[in-house]
Amino acid sequence: MKTLKFCLVFIALLTTQQSLAQKDSTLVFPDSAKVMNDLYFLSSDSLQGRKTNTEGNEIAQNFIIERIQKIGVSAYVQDYTQQFTFGKDTIPAVNILGFVEGYSGKHFIVISAHYDHVGMKDSTEIFNGADDNASGVVALLALAEYFRENQPENNLLFAFFDAEEMGLQGAKHFMQSVVMDTSRIKMNVNLDMVSRGDKNELYAVGTYFTPFLKPLITEASKDKSIKILFGRDEPKKKPNWVSASDHAPFHKAEIPFVYFGVDDHEDYHKITDTADKINPDFYLEAIRLIKDAIENFDANLGEIVYGK
Ligand SMILES: [Zn+2]
Repeated sequence: MKTLKFCLVFIALLTTQQSLAQKDSTLVFPDSAKVMNDLYFLSSDSLQGRKTNTEGNEIAQNFIIERIQKIGVSAYVQDYTQQFTFGKDTIPAVNILGFVEGYSGKHFIVISAHYDHVGMKDSTEIFNGADDNASGVVALLALAEYFRENQPENNLLFAFFDAEEMGLQGAKHFMQSVVMDTSRIKMNVNLDMVSRGDKNELYAVGTYFTPFLKPLITEASKDKSIKILFGRDEPKKKPNWVSASDHAPFHKAEIPFVYFGVDDHEDYHKITDTADKINPDFYLEAIRLIKDAIENFDANLGEIVYGK
């Protein structure tokens, strides 16, 4: 009897440990070491500021493609790449489009982050662009990996846009191109500068146009240590970020959008926007908040309508 009791206790202990381990594996999103490694790599001097149509930009491209391929994200276009040119000088640029199929499979949420930055000055000063926007790109990679393992209801298109710094060219091209029927896009979630925790605040911009989104974001922020702020989207009020990044072409097409980003800081568009300035606790928590918000958007997508 004693032995049986001991066995039962032992089995009970094992089961508890196992369920704890299972719980842990869901609690460790995102993989902090991977996130910080990726961030340091994308903002390292060797990428020379990732300016569109440079060698450093191409290194970033290859890194993103290799990673999403490894994760198992499908290519939305051949080789994941949408090549285009823009401007009088027909500058070549490349968007990277990965795709996770939802189980209902009809509509799309486009989750975007620009991977280009402003490059170098006088061939000596490197603009590393750690917060702007290696942070958004790395968050997008972590989200792609999460949703690849946790299938969403709707299709998720992961858009790594190029040439944002040259006038939102990648996002504009994507919206004008024929790669997809844009009426299937029900929402855009854009990430641009999501890692600087100087004020422990993250803005969610765009709910002025689609107020239905606000409680979904508030709910996602409830158990988080960082403060979510709304606004910067009301007409005639300054500062106004409605046209500030790649969400603008979606907004123009009257597609509901949320832009996640921190306030401008002293290192914005300076050579001092480096990875060591980033507080990992804030950054990882921001990624968790955005992931939870996307899950809420996904679960309620049918009711997310521009202007409501
Ligand atoms: Zn940016």
